[in-house]
Amino acid sequence: MTARLLDGVATAQAIRDELRQEVVSLASRGVRPGLGVLLVGDDPASGVYVRSKTRACEELGLLHETIRLSASATTEEVAKAVRALNARPDLHGILVQLPLPPQVDSERVLGLVDPRKDVDGFHAENVGRLVQKRPGFVACTPAGVMELLKRSGIAPSGKRALILGRSDIVGKPMALLLLHADATVTIAHSRTRDLPSVTREADILVAAIGKPGFVRASHVKPGAVVIDVGINRIQDPAQAEDLLDAKRLEAFRQKGTALVGDVDFRRVREVASAITPVPGGVGPLTIALLMKNTVSAAARH
Ligand code: NAP
Repeated sequence: MTARLLDGVATAQAIRDELRQEVVSLASRGVRPGLGVLLVGDDPASGVYVRSKTRACEELGLLHETIRLSASATTEEVAKAVRALNARPDLHGILVQLPLPPQVDSERVLGLVDPRKDVDGFHAENVGRLVQKRPGFVACTPAGVMELLKRSGIAPSGKRALILGRSDIVGKPMALLLLHADATVTIAHSRTRDLPSVTREADILVAAIGKPGFVRASHVKPGAVVIDVGINRIQDPAQAEDLLDAKRLEAFRQKGTALVGDVDFRRVREVASAITPVPGGVGPLTIALLMKNTVSAAARH
């Protein structure tokens, strides 16, 4: 069996097309959704993520403003910038780009974001709302995975779902969303014993651990749906040879680097019934859901 490819780029585009209508209807009421971004330090990957998010704002006609602070900023300076964004009536959503530098208390900073502007869904109030299945902002990556499943005709109800990874931003909210969609959910992590036998139970397997190509064909039940959240940059030629197909390997040889997920895509696609690629899978959906949350923050406002 060769798995069906779940196309994150096309699904993200469909979501953005729907949002465009909403942006027009908000404009007729004199509202232009706005996103405030806080970028602390000069981590190149964070810079790339912020640019792709602000570009998405521009494509949709949303207002955006990025506040930049130096890598040596203190918790108090970052907190002050968050309070300033909270007070801006034209910015309906706030995004604090993670990771923050080590000297900054991330928990404290995220806790200061006005929950009504918390379009990343990281504030404890929104996490609590998710636990209780009440309306609120949901973290963009797991919300994007749910949109992809829904729009690909994959219904979690009654299925065994396995989430590999238990982070606050992906694994835990993903598990709650699948639970609310009536899946029977297991969360596995670095202390899980005999992982392959646990993952092989899953009809829907979501990998979010940050380990290139970790999920092998032997982890996957034949016919399972495999969602790869991982984004890992590899530079090791042996690893590239193991994980990439001929075309991507050629590109790797020229650039010396490639992006891969947490799943051994080449081999797992021969076992699974459906699979997300990396790049082009979950990544674009995360940005589309950030836009969706920002538009809905403006609409609620
Ligand atoms: P994280 O905070 O580092 O959490 C990793 C999780 O994986 C932890 O729960 C850890 O277990 C578990 N884990 C690590 N090694 C393992 C192993 N060998 N076996 C089983 N479990 C293991 O990572 P994250 O922020 O959730 O991100 C995960 C991946 O998703 C990364 O590649 C990240 O870049 C990517 N990501 C992608 C998007 C997107 O837009 N597509 C968004 C966010 C993140 P313990 O808890 O036991 O340590």
